[in-house]
Amino acid sequence: MSSTDALANVPPANSCSACPSVRFSFENTYARLPERFYTRVDPTPVHSPHLVEVNVDLARKLGLDPDTLTTPEGVEIFAGNRLAEGSEPLAMAYAGHQFGYFVPQLGDGRANLLGELVGHDGIRYDIQLKGSGPTPYSRRGDGRAALGPVLREYILSEAMAALNVPTTRALAAVTTGEQVLREEVMPGAVLTRVAASHLRVGTFQYFAARGDTEGTRTLADYAIARHYPEAAKTKQPYRALLNGVISRQAQLVAQWMLLGFIHGVMNTDNTSISGETIDYGPCAFMEAYDPAMVFSSIDHQGRYAYGNQPHAAHWNLTRLAETLLPILEQEAGNEANALASAKEALADFVPQYETARVAGLRRRLGLFTESDGDAALAQDLLDRMAANRADFTLTFRRLCDDVDVPEGGEGVRTLFDEPSSFDEWAGGWRQRLGQEPLPAPVRAAAMRLASPAFIPRNHLVEAALNAAVERQDFQAFEELLDAVSRPYENRPDLERYATPARPEELVRQTFCGT
Ligand code: AMP
Ligand code: MG
Repeated sequence: MSSTDALANVPPANSCSACPSVRFSFENTYARLPERFYTRVDPTPVHSPHLVEVNVDLARKLGLDPDTLTTPEGVEIFAGNRLAEGSEPLAMAYAGHQFGYFVPQLGDGRANLLGELVGHDGIRYDIQLKGSGPTPYSRRGDGRAALGPVLREYILSEAMAALNVPTTRALAAVTTGEQVLREEVMPGAVLTRVAASHLRVGTFQYFAARGDTEGTRTLADYAIARHYPEAAKTKQPYRALLNGVISRQAQLVAQWMLLGFIHGVMNTDNTSISGETIDYGPCAFMEAYDPAMVFSSIDHQGRYAYGNQPHAAHWNLTRLAETLLPILEQEAGNEANALASAKEALADFVPQYETARVAGLRRRLGLFTESDGDAALAQDLLDRMAANRADFTLTFRRLCDDVDVPEGGEGVRTLFDEPSSFDEWAGGWRQRLGQEPLPAPVRAAAMRLASPAFIPRNHLVEAALNAAVERQDFQAFEELLDAVSRPYENRPDLERYATPARPEELVRQTFCGT
């Protein structure tokens, strides 16, 4: 079907006379950058869009009227069948290292940046459609997204936001009424994604690969203005930019590690300059603790295994530093100084990551003062969890209950294959807790804010996606979204969502479905 035919089925703009019309107060800056940064391209209309979900809270935060977004006009905008006023659709150009191999041109092959909005928090956000049709960067792809991966990104990114991890968000999901061909035929869908920006390490690599130093400088200035304004006030703004990205990535990956999150495709094109988690593909939360855990079906070598994530982030940041060398040279005076400056910046990654990780582990263990042995105490627990296949999320959550009960509850130890292994550790932990000034109930409450009860467990994600794809039944999706949107609360009625998969429910592999 041609796009004109598809449009013929779409009701005209004001078909709903009672509906207030949709207003996005777009204020676009990326579209003002030089033309070689992107290609202007409109979304390709789809046959019969249907709304799956609108994120009401996020809409309000962005200054959008949620009631207008669920109207036929809103749905058409989320499907790419209609352009909101002020929207200037474009596909961004970028490059990237994919599993270690450099691809000089990737770019948005199935996404359109519609424009930018400034939220009530004063932050500028990209509004992007993902799965909205082919672009000049599509290579052999169809420009589309399947419903399963769209819902996976919706749930996982909203869970991460609720867990206070920097992340892109999901504003809406629609089905297209069209089919997409993957390993099998799947229903098509479009995700509306919100990001602090879609600048990636790969965006810098795009210009560096072309020897386009002017482009690199323009991009760096844009990234500074948008994400690191304080860098502009320093003597060496580009070095400060590099420091800033390194710092945010170190914090980000520490948070992933503290939550058992495995991104799955930490390519440089999926590494954001703003420090957000971006491009949710075959990602997953770990259940039984295992540093070597890999879920992604395409990660054959375990390059992006759970335990390799800090190393992968450092590798990606090294690629970023390389792209900045020509402009660092202007600041540092000569090539040798620029190289030394980049190396110095990169050397900060590990200490920053470790500091963030240990601070997080302390919170999860209920230690709100610092003592020298804390990191070793935490590591000992992790080693025992690995040896005993203890559930990562539930172990820490039940530690919160444990501090309320002076003699120790049954709850945590039963998660270990060999419960005595936990007991051996817990003796030292309780001794260490004795040095803490906070009363136990206060400590337990604080710990519960660091250790979620609800993560999007893989078997529940899978069940929700299957029901939606096979039966157009979105109830499990809605319920799971609700559970992971309030991850730190005690909700005894939702016990099922806090419980690890039974052996027969275990999901061992996830697929990117692109
Ligand atoms: P991703 O795996 O989603 O991070 O995508 C990697 C690259 O492949 C990006 O340049 C995407 O735009 C492109 N891509 C992924 N899926 C498709 C598709 N179905 N059609 C066109 N391009 C795609
Ligand atoms: Mg990507």
